[in-house]
Amino acid sequence: MTTLKAVAQAQAALASRRADFPLLVKFPELHYLDSAATAQKPAAVLDAMREYYETDYANPHRGAYDLSARSTERYERARKRVAKFLGVRDADTLIFTRGTTESLNLVATAWGRAKVKSGDEIVVTGMEHHANFVPWQQLAIAQGADLRICELTEDGRIDLDRLRALVTPKTRVVAFSHVSNALGTINPVRDIAAVARKVGALVVCDGAQAAPHLALDLDALGVDFYAFSGHKMLGPMGIGVLVGRREILEFMPPYQMGGDMIEFVYDETSTWNVLPHKFEAGTPNVAGAVGLAAACDYLDAIGMAAVRAHEQMLLELAHKMLGEIPGVRIYGPAAVADKSGVVSFTLEGVHPHDLATILDEDGVCVRAGHHCAQPLMRRLKVPATARASVYVYTTAEDVEALGRGVERARGMFG
Ligand code: PLP
Repeated sequence: MTTLKAVAQAQAALASRRADFPLLVKFPELHYLDSAATAQKPAAVLDAMREYYETDYANPHRGAYDLSARSTERYERARKRVAKFLGVRDADTLIFTRGTTESLNLVATAWGRAKVKSGDEIVVTGMEHHANFVPWQQLAIAQGADLRICELTEDGRIDLDRLRALVTPKTRVVAFSHVSNALGTINPVRDIAAVARKVGALVVCDGAQAAPHLALDLDALGVDFYAFSGHKMLGPMGIGVLVGRREILEFMPPYQMGGDMIEFVYDETSTWNVLPHKFEAGTPNVAGAVGLAAACDYLDAIGMAAVRAHEQMLLELAHKMLGEIPGVRIYGPAAVADKSGVVSFTLEGVHPHDLATILDEDGVCVRAGHHCAQPLMRRLKVPATARASVYVYTTAEDVEALGRGVERARGMFG
């Protein structure tokens, strides 16, 4: 009885949560299972941005007048709010960027060009998104360093023994994802960081698929840099975050040059502003930061433990439904507890692109392709997979529609 009541309460909460998302209300027939690519937006985020534009909008940091000061205050308040959400005490070590891609390029360029020399080693893993692979690969080429790739276990995890063997005193940086966008694997950040620390390597974590789904305490996580995008965690596109250790950020040269990031500009040389402004050249995306802060409020009101529990229930269901369909192969860890947000799969005899097109006829939105992880696809020996991904507004009905659609595709292709 108590369990039934709890289930009924959870369903009622979910129904009212879906009502918070205008696009899902507008298209009730849609089964949006592509949240790993980008999340839908609650009205609270859209309202916060509109309210900022209507009330406090001006170019921040520059004007002596009150409206500009209010805009600055909104921006810096948003920074503090996001820092609190992440468990970051020193908010000035939180740099706003355009997204994960820019955050990782910032580190690979500003830190990498200063610190990585010929003969050094850079370690990444075989499951990285291109955003955490190509910047390191190109840094290695530019500096004459050796890019080393940690291979994965059969079930799509980072093989810690191989990592230990790969990391040497010449390793300058170990870069890896917290959660794989193509497999859903949750990686053991502390263990990986410990391997890197032993040789004094920089620890860079791509949190694009983790920050939206897992409770984070970044100050305690043991990484030097952590990057993610606002748009995957209910915030707007065009805003992202890089959190770094203060000593490293202070040492690092700036990434981009221009307004706001300078202290003094002389004819011959320039000096740099303090953190975080040193890494935020040009007019910032204040509305984006305000929207991201509102997304943090929204997620905190649900509670990240509840977000995780809801997603685990959906992944369990997806694994069960897809696992019962002959010809379906699911990639990544078999245990749902070791995954977050994503189910990556293929259906024998049906190209993932055809599968996604068939699913679309039923209003089921999934992604098909290499998921910006071509090195991983090569390791899996597939050209592509189909990927269903869930979030706070996803229902069991969405996942059931996926199961029915995959069955239908199997019937069509015999
Ligand atoms: N890293 C991972 C693991 C991702 O999933 C993504 C986006 O899919 C990125 C990096 C790049 O994010 P963005 O395109 O928002 O910069």
